[in-house]
Amino acid sequence: MSGSAGALEVRDLVVRYQGRPAVDGLDLDLAPGQVLALLGPNGAGKTTTVEVCEGLRTRDAGQVRVLGTDPAGAPDALRARIGVMPQGGGAYPGVRVREMVGLVATCSANPLDPDWLVETLGLAACARKPYKRLSVGQQQRLALACAVVGRPELVFLDEPTASLDPQGRRLVWDLVRALRADGVAVLLTTHLMQEAETLADHIVIIDHGRSVAEGSPDTLTAAGADRELRFRAAAGMDLRLLADALPEGCTVSEPSAGSYLVEGSIDPQVLSTVTSWCARQGVLADDLRVARRSLEDVFLELTGRELRS
Ligand code: ATP
Repeated sequence: MSGSAGALEVRDLVVRYQGRPAVDGLDLDLAPGQVLALLGPNGAGKTTTVEVCEGLRTRDAGQVRVLGTDPAGAPDALRARIGVMPQGGGAYPGVRVREMVGLVATCSANPLDPDWLVETLGLAACARKPYKRLSVGQQQRLALACAVVGRPELVFLDEPTASLDPQGRRLVWDLVRALRADGVAVLLTTHLMQEAETLADHIVIIDHGRSVAEGSPDTLTAAGADRELRFRAAAGMDLRLLADALPEGCTVSEPSAGSYLVEGSIDPQVLSTVTSWCARQGVLADDLRVARRSLEDVFLELTGRELRS
């Protein structure tokens, strides 16, 4: 990742459970003011990686530097400079939302305004509710507020929107963007490709504890990168004439009944060939769209598996 002044540097990280590698030679770089997304299916090794970086889990091999310090000793001085939002979270059942954020703020020399944070994360209406009465989504946003109220330089967010509805997800995304604009480095794990595509400067796709691809969202989705054209029309059309009319390297198929896919180098000429062919068949190409491949497609190509397992 360019310009890394080293908020986080991971080299050749290996973590094993009962001798089996959960993380198997991973490299990561994260600079201040950047968002790095670790994207991968369940069990890919995301949480294990984050826990090592947080100083919560020991590693079997490799080097890790968090804000220039090895987190293995988890020195207090380092803990004060990082924010951690773990998966699951948890708090004393009786503690109230605003009270909890305020308590965590008192541990920091220069905290964010707890009231602003509670409002920003859509928690104002439940500010006086005890933890045990919160929905899972509210608990998750409270955990995020606690992770960032101390104005950390580096924040670890492990699946920060896993239990949120679209509105809650947008609030969290807005806060992550605000942190980034403030120069905070954010390491985010997710199995939501839209989250990674929307927020991240750099994405590392991991599977079986290894990086299988990395780059900016644009580079990853454009890599090797042909576009695709999809349209809907009557099922079972004879595609032979269309296939002959398309330029070399373009293919056409009907992946499901009435849903057609043209793959290859999609240019205006290809678009015109497809629509003219449809016109000659007397059919209207419905829902016609040209799209780049998604991160989901990239993952499927690389691993042969769906991102959501
Ligand atoms: P998820 O999206 O489900 O949280 P993940 O990508 O975060 O998955 P990890 O939780 O890091 O993946 O798990 C990586 C692998 O290590 C998995 O095969 C998991 O079963 C295994 N694993 C994780 N924690 C332990 C543990 N404490 N003991 C043994 N194996 C573990």
